[in-house]
Amino acid sequence: MRSIVRNVYCVGRNYRLHAEELGNDVPTEPMVFLKPSHAVVPMDGTELSLPGGRGEIHYEAELVLRIARPYVTGISVDELVDVMALGIDFTLRDVQSDLKKKGHPWTAAKGFRFSAPLTPYVAFPGTEEIGRTSFELVKNGETVQRGNTQDMIFSLQEIVDYIADHYGLDEGDLIFTGTPAGVGPVADGDQLTLCLDGQPLGSCAIGISG
Ligand code: ZN
Repeated sequence: MRSIVRNVYCVGRNYRLHAEELGNDVPTEPMVFLKPSHAVVPMDGTELSLPGGRGEIHYEAELVLRIARPYVTGISVDELVDVMALGIDFTLRDVQSDLKKKGHPWTAAKGFRFSAPLTPYVAFPGTEEIGRTSFELVKNGETVQRGNTQDMIFSLQEIVDYIADHYGLDEGDLIFTGTPAGVGPVADGDQLTLCLDGQPLGSCAIGISG
């Protein structure tokens, strides 16, 4: 049943340096938004078709947790999560800036089709072990982002507790846990690869239409 994706939660501004690079305040509680499950596509080497003519499209590399069972009070992340992946929270940055100014929801900037490519799942090694492991986004052969859960403002445990408490959490839900510093635009023809501990987990080529 691993392939069924239910709710796709995303945490914004969960790394201090990233919040600062976009000129945002560092949050005092997790900032959670949602993507439609239809945004999720496999990052399997094929071309990813992204919308053109709507301003800059930014990559945000993130560690993604898959929830394996119903949340109950007091459950640990290690009990709750069976597998993880790396993913990209693609963002129409100019559209997002406009929405922020108007005070409108972010769906148009964050929820478009194919905006959440996901590598194949790997076993979740546990919160301690994942803290000793970095993930990277490589764009056209150059490492542009590097993240580690130890640099998060809110820990994985705080994130799952917060989301479960406010919105509910159950089997098949995904959590994009936030992006480290180094976000930037993609262009037609770019090659992106997500690596865990130096090992490539998934890649894609970018195709921008229009
Ligand atoms: Zn993000």
